[in-house]
Amino acid sequence: MPSLNTEQFNPVTLSMPVQHKTLATRAGLGWIGKSALLVTKEYGPAVRLGSALTDADLRTGTPTDTARCGNCRQCVDRCPARAVVGNNWQAGMAREGAEPGEAIIDEIE
Ligand code: SF4
Repeated sequence: MPSLNTEQFNPVTLSMPVQHKTLATRAGLGWIGKSALLVTKEYGPAVRLGSALTDADLRTGTPTDTARCGNCRQCVDRCPARAVVGNNWQAGMAREGAEPGEAIIDEIE
């Protein structure tokens, strides 16, 4: 069975071939908040994700395709590094629209 490891990390796009957050939204566990974190109704962004890929016939959830942040901007307004872009996420949107830009990443490094 193929597995994912850190050697598959793409330093240009800052991503892996399969992303836990994307799988979580496809499973209906939550949405991507303006913070670019997975947000669940029950626990907000305080979750740790792991993924298992299988072709087993399992019951699935309803995919989440839009953010449920509404007009909330708490993470945007409170981030001391100004790293939160603040756009409402939609499934399939470009990653650049939801995650901190290179300028912020360069500033952190
Ligand atoms: S905008 Fe509000 S609900 Fe959305 S991720 Fe930020 S703090 Fe959470």
